[in-house]
Amino acid sequence: MNMALLFDDDFVATDRVVLRGRRLEHIRSVLGASSGDQLSVGRVNGQMGLGEVVSLTDSRAELIVVLNQQPPAPLPLTLMLAMPRPKMFRRILQTSATLGVKDIWLINSYKVEKSFWQTPWLSDENLRENMTLGLEQAKDTAMPRLHIRKLFKPFVEDELPALLQGKRALVAHPGTSTPCPTHVNSPTALCIGPEGGFTPYEVGKLEEAGCQSVHLGPRILRMETAVPVLVSRLFDACL
Ligand code: SAM
Repeated sequence: MNMALLFDDDFVATDRVVLRGRRLEHIRSVLGASSGDQLSVGRVNGQMGLGEVVSLTDSRAELIVVLNQQPPAPLPLTLMLAMPRPKMFRRILQTSATLGVKDIWLINSYKVEKSFWQTPWLSDENLRENMTLGLEQAKDTAMPRLHIRKLFKPFVEDELPALLQGKRALVAHPGTSTPCPTHVNSPTALCIGPEGGFTPYEVGKLEEAGCQSVHLGPRILRMETAVPVLVSRLFDACL
């Protein structure tokens, strides 16, 4: 936690917060902070700054906060991920938030196992917690918006074309002939396939909607590796 992300519920006055649970534990055990110490803080979807610890006990930390800095610029990326295996999902979500992705779509695909959609990691509370961890890692406050679409065909036929308007649209697909572009830095939509890859039918539908198939070379990367590799290739801002 390089910054404590603050939520409305934490504020007991306009410039005062009380933290408990995970953030308190981190302040006490990892940072070893004591009264008078200053920590990085940021208000969700707001500004960042410093919090001075004014009281610290086993059950609560009280901080006076000054929030006067803008968070880093978001990436102009709409990221569409075929729902990953639950044990990878949490990490991929955190990494996406850390990299500055603000628009994340979890979509279905033939090779996504139905059981993946039952994971508790998809509860509102767990989604928020993992995106919070990603933002705290990066020192960012802008919470990503996450959309879930459990039916592939209605999504690509009815929603995707509008979503791609004004963006460069790509689908990462190994073995295709076009290398993934670099230094794009403009609004982009990117689809990443599941563990078994998108089927030829699905790639056809994504292309029909306006996506260009691109590859990252002959090595097949896990989704958790493909996300940061693709993002850093496309956007200089995240380097
Ligand atoms: N066996 C699958 C295939 O050949 O498509 C591998 C899927 S890979 C584990 C998961 C996703 O990461 C892929 O669907 C693709 O979106 C992306 N990916 C991984 N390696 C890639 C590469 N070399 N080129 C383009 N995309 C890649």
